[in-house]
Amino acid sequence: MNKRDLKFFQNLLMKEKAKFARGLDKHEHKIDTPSDTFAYPYHMADIGSETADKEEESIIVSSYGNRLTVIDEALEKIRNKAYGKCEKCSKKIERERLKVKPYAKLCVKCKEQEEKMAR
Ligand SMILES: [Zn+2]
Repeated sequence: MNKRDLKFFQNLLMKEKAKFARGLDKHEHKIDTPSDTFAYPYHMADIGSETADKEEESIIVSSYGNRLTVIDEALEKIRNKAYGKCEKCSKKIERERLKVKPYAKLCVKCKEQEEKMAR
């Protein structure tokens, strides 16, 4: 991937990051003020345990957090010029895929395979 491409995807990732960071703030704020509809018996540290799956807001926050981590990893890869490579087969990830999902770690083929395995 050339410099211009890297710059392009870096911008995409920064935008995506800003978007998710805002979303995260919003949801975290909701959890900090449990006075309205829900009570939150689980602490942030418990997210990831099976008991948390009823806590919809918590899950949203958790997945936003994960997404931000993934975006940071992708930005790191841009810095290392390792961006756009499938983590599984080391082939280039399709450009069109990266445009939609700049933080994608796997190429379409590997992603499909992974989804089949998960089923
Ligand atoms: Zn692959």
